[in-house]
Amino acid sequence: MGAGRTKCDHKICGDKEKVWLPHSFRGRGRGLQPHRYCVNCGLVEVHSDERPLSIGHYMNALARIGMEFKVAKVQTRMISMEMERCSLDDPYGMDRWQQEDLFVGIVGTYLNLSEERIRKFL
Ligand SMILES: [Zn+2]
Repeated sequence: MGAGRTKCDHKICGDKEKVWLPHSFRGRGRGLQPHRYCVNCGLVEVHSDERPLSIGHYMNALARIGMEFKVAKVQTRMISMEMERCSLDDPYGMDRWQQEDLFVGIVGTYLNLSEERIRKFL
């Protein structure tokens, strides 16, 4: 994740080729489920309740943070570019909780805000 990871257009494997992997919800194991994966890069699709949200959700959160803390436009622009660079909206290899951690990490790097304050906007 993050540095060095290149973007992949993701080619989905067929239904018969699905891999059985442990499924978890908020970090707790929920047994095995068949997962689809990308035949190009090998990343596995994230499942249902941990499915990542669209990048728009995080852009909205960022916009609200920007207004609340009077952040300069150039800074919010840099944060949104960083979110795109990290493939925040990649449905493969990143679940929603990882997305949120990444969002908090990026915003926290640019703005001097505590994790608790940032999470309120998610
Ligand atoms: Zn891929």
